[in-house]
Amino acid sequence: VDLETCCGTPNLENGNRVKVLVDSERCQGHARCITFLPEVLETDDLGYSHVKGAGEVPPELEDRARRAVANCPEQAITTVDE
Ligand code: SF4
Repeated sequence: VDLETCCGTPNLENGNRVKVLVDSERCQGHARCITFLPEVLETDDLGYSHVKGAGEVPPELEDRARRAVANCPEQAITTVDE
């Protein structure tokens, strides 16, 4: 964890922010994850998943983000709490 980023976060009262990461080397492109989290994940022309923008997950979508992680057969998706 980058301490400067961590400790400099101004919105701690709102709780941690969650980001989704997709490991492009693991992703096999079956797009299961998209069904759980289309707001944050999208596929490219070849069907491989990647995050939209910075991959930040709105608090109301965190449960679905964790389901996307749990349902990726390649363990290609991770979440990080910032
Ligand atoms: S479920 Fe996993 S392997 Fe399949 S497209 Fe999504 S990130 Fe890639």
